[in-house]
Amino acid sequence: MTESGGSPEPVTIVGAGPVGALLAILLARDGRRVRLFERRPNPLVGGNPVAGEARSINLALSARGLNALERAGVLARIRPQMVTMRGRQLHDLTGQGPLLPYGQRADEVIYAISRARLNTALIEAASEYPLIEMTFEQRCTDVDARSGIVQGVAASLVIGADGAGSALRQALSERGLLQATEDPLAHDYKELHIPAKPNGEWALAPHALHVWPRGGFMLIALPNPDHTFTATLFLPALGPTGFESLQTAAAAHAFFAAQFPDALALIADFDAQFAQHPQGKLATLYCWPWHVQRVLLIGDAAHAIVPFHGQGLNCGFEDCVLLADLLNRHPDQHAACAEFERQRRPNTDAIAAMAIENYQDMREAVLAPDFALRKQLAMDLERRFPQRFIPRYSMVMFHAEIPYAEAQRRGALQEAVLDALLADKAGADSTLADNLLCESGL
Ligand code: FAD
Repeated sequence: MTESGGSPEPVTIVGAGPVGALLAILLARDGRRVRLFERRPNPLVGGNPVAGEARSINLALSARGLNALERAGVLARIRPQMVTMRGRQLHDLTGQGPLLPYGQRADEVIYAISRARLNTALIEAASEYPLIEMTFEQRCTDVDARSGIVQGVAASLVIGADGAGSALRQALSERGLLQATEDPLAHDYKELHIPAKPNGEWALAPHALHVWPRGGFMLIALPNPDHTFTATLFLPALGPTGFESLQTAAAAHAFFAAQFPDALALIADFDAQFAQHPQGKLATLYCWPWHVQRVLLIGDAAHAIVPFHGQGLNCGFEDCVLLADLLNRHPDQHAACAEFERQRRPNTDAIAAMAIENYQDMREAVLAPDFALRKQLAMDLERRFPQRFIPRYSMVMFHAEIPYAEAQRRGALQEAVLDALLADKAGADSTLADNLLCESGL
């Protein structure tokens, strides 16, 4: 485990995406040497930030991700790039709708951040640690799991942080060392740019995640620090209300004019953007085991999920903190990896399921007549019984101390309580709520 000098052998990390870069920093802070291989060019050389590829341009950070960034000592440098989002601003066909707050305390907010800027800030921070050796433009295509050899260099531990299309996972799967299946979503996505107004002001209310829920599909928009928004259309790939029916500029334009007229009015070059921007695919990845001999997969390489809870990266960052802790605690790093798998899997399964459910919540459930009442009641219960009732969304987004699996379990019980209260005219009655919470075991 240690070289003759007594210092731990370097760990190899494949992929300097946000998860690989953050893990490198956490390990270096614990005194470990890290070798990091990244297929893309160094964003710190030539001033080109890491390109987003076929991923989102910006994304939402919440408590779990923020904790990890703080732990790595990088939150302060990232904070100026973050835009606060206090709730969902709904848009009906006339462009009107309520702002549904995410939580009820001032700090119960989430933050939009540019993926490229976040990744570049992490690589910049990693470059300040002499213990981290980064090699860019190095595409790893294989790993020898027994010797830990990647790119001709052996390591006692190789971490695959090479994303949803992981080459390391593929190599291990081809040798029958793990099983990986992708459960594709029938809906694809396309991003569109909403510019600032000519006077430089925001074209939409800035401190919100905008949602145009339309039942079977939706448009969302997240703010950027330069007063622009990045909108994303989520739509079935096939069918009459699907991307396949929007193959011409006229069809896409007519669709937006009918469904999202207020958003269309803000995108002067809509036709060009719609034709040129790629149509992305979404899937949930189920892979097991993650730990094979000297290799461990983390982040999207191990458990990519659909983006509707805004948790994929937050979850990957949480992986990094747990793994760093376990490697510190266990003298045997392979025992640490085994423990990582054991503790983490129920939680990544839970967030994978909740992420799929949240799509239905965002595009459809918000339209139900009792949705606002339900949310209000949930927040009321949280105020009255703060130790026993926390809305599931809040547990996932604001309570990093509650594991995802626990949020899922408690969330199911709470839904039953809300159903009972909403079905009962005396729903607001505190005693009934108390009894229901007791009966449900909350
Ligand atoms: P990646 O970000 O994919 O990084 C992998 C890195 O490995 C890249 O730098 C890549 O170049 C490198 N690499 C790949 N192959 C190789 C190779 N063979 N050799 C060397 N290097 C390699 N998550 C959230 O938390 N909040 C959100 O709001 C959110 N929104 C999203 C919206 C969309 C549309 C999508 C698709 C995802 C969203 N996510 C969100 C999920 C989030 O993007 C991922 O969970 C996150 O990027 C995973 O980070 P990662 O470092 O594991 O993988």
